[in-house]
Amino acid sequence: MESTDCAVVIGASIGGLVAARALSDTYARVVVVDRDTLPDQPVTRRGVPQGRHLHALLAGGLQSLERLFPGLRRDLVASGAPMGDLQGELYWYNDGHRLCPATTGLTILGASRPLLEHAIRARVAALPGVEIVERCEVLGLTTTPDRMRVTGVRMLPVGTDATEQRVPADLVVDAGGRGSRSPVWLEALGYQRAPEETVRIDVTYVTRYYRREPGHLRGNFGAGGGAYPGVPRAGGVFAQDGDRFALSLTGMLGEEPPTDDAGMARYADSLPAPQIAEIIRSATPLDPPRKMRYPASTRRRYERLRRFPEGYLVMADALCSFNPIYGQGMTVAAMEALLLRRLLTAGTGQLAKRFFRQAAEIIDNPWSIAVGADLRFPGVQGRRPPLQRLTNAYIGRFHAAATRDPALGAAFLRVINLIDPPTRLFVPEVVARVLRASRQRPASA
Ligand SMILES: Cc1cc2nc3c(=O)[nH]c(=O)nc-3n(C[C@H](O)[C@H](O)[C@H](O)COP(=O)(O)OP(=O)(O)OC[C@H]3O[C@@H](n4cnc5c(N)ncnc54)[C@H](O)[C@@H]3O)c2cc1C
Repeated sequence: MESTDCAVVIGASIGGLVAARALSDTYARVVVVDRDTLPDQPVTRRGVPQGRHLHALLAGGLQSLERLFPGLRRDLVASGAPMGDLQGELYWYNDGHRLCPATTGLTILGASRPLLEHAIRARVAALPGVEIVERCEVLGLTTTPDRMRVTGVRMLPVGTDATEQRVPADLVVDAGGRGSRSPVWLEALGYQRAPEETVRIDVTYVTRYYRREPGHLRGNFGAGGGAYPGVPRAGGVFAQDGDRFALSLTGMLGEEPPTDDAGMARYADSLPAPQIAEIIRSATPLDPPRKMRYPASTRRRYERLRRFPEGYLVMADALCSFNPIYGQGMTVAAMEALLLRRLLTAGTGQLAKRFFRQAAEIIDNPWSIAVGADLRFPGVQGRRPPLQRLTNAYIGRFHAAATRDPALGAAFLRVINLIDPPTRLFVPEVVARVLRASRQRPASA
């Protein structure tokens, strides 16, 4: 087959951009296609409606992005993104308990989702051989006559009279998000649909931006706390670029935060972190509150398929989209891009098989963190492993113990920030600390 030495990426959001970065080391030409209009300023856009909502970049994600784009953090800080120590400058509440504050050296960066995408897009657009095509919808795939290999995409410019175009490619990567058409396209080509794991969580976000003044939260970066059994509500307020706070209230399992001032403040009063209501009551709002629903986490198990076409990959949210409350999506996308870059240095043979198998290993930990936490709610349907109750009881004790022992707080934050695996919380040294601290009452409730 004639080689075009070209890769096509479907989607120019975070997943597509980090994929393009990885591919650009191997392919002479990388064409990234998005149906949306891509703004030349760091503002929200239609194709990424979640961009209006609070996006936390996990410390593990910041590290991975920095490996893909050295100096990105410096650029973001220069664009006004504030930085803070994850444990020292944030008020964290787990299961209603305040995590003992301490300096950990783990960084939180307050880059809003539009700024982050904007900065990454600028980096990717400047790479030699990379072309970002906006306002063009990918309609489907082209293949060899035996349909064993994907040979490119069919695409149609949006909002013009232009006709369908074909872009030949050695490799096509679907980073089209959780609404990915890959299951439908592959089925039409005679492949089985990937087995799908779905965990219904019915999350609703309400997000609003507020002016950040120096005295707010005593100069600290923000506050946050997750939902826990009996309290299917959560919230976060994080400093962001532009001297702003992004404040999100969330509800799970059909619980819906209101969108009026008084209702938002009352809802925030029911959360363990009092700092969230404090900002709603004292800071100047900068925009109207926005609502977004997120019905389910979905994992597509492409690694379990026996047949899959050559020259095709699926990654980022199109491969697995997580309950957004845990803030994992962008980090996992960056980790997958690092994997792709590494795999390509060993050649393109059996790429899909190698990629899906190892991407599944990357996804296992964040998926188990998110789904494990969600399955603590009796209303969430799913298979509960036999040890689940024991694990839940331990994690409950862990959070209480972490109000006193900063090392436990650091261990927990390293796990949920995808730096250490969840098994780190169960090593003897950590269990001993939990047991020791459990002899006392939690420092705060
Ligand atoms: C409410 C909410 C809050 C979140 N909070 C966080 C957070 O705190 N931290 C975090 O890490 N993650 C968070 N996420 C997840 C995060 O937004 C995604 O993981 C991240 O955007 C990467 O997704 P993606 O690039 O795979 O897909 P998306 O961001 O969904 O982008 C898909 C892109 O593909 C384009 N596209 C789709 N189909 C086609 C087609 N056929 N042709 C051309 N273009 C196409 C779309 O226009 C779009 O630009 C959150 C998600 C939600 C919903």
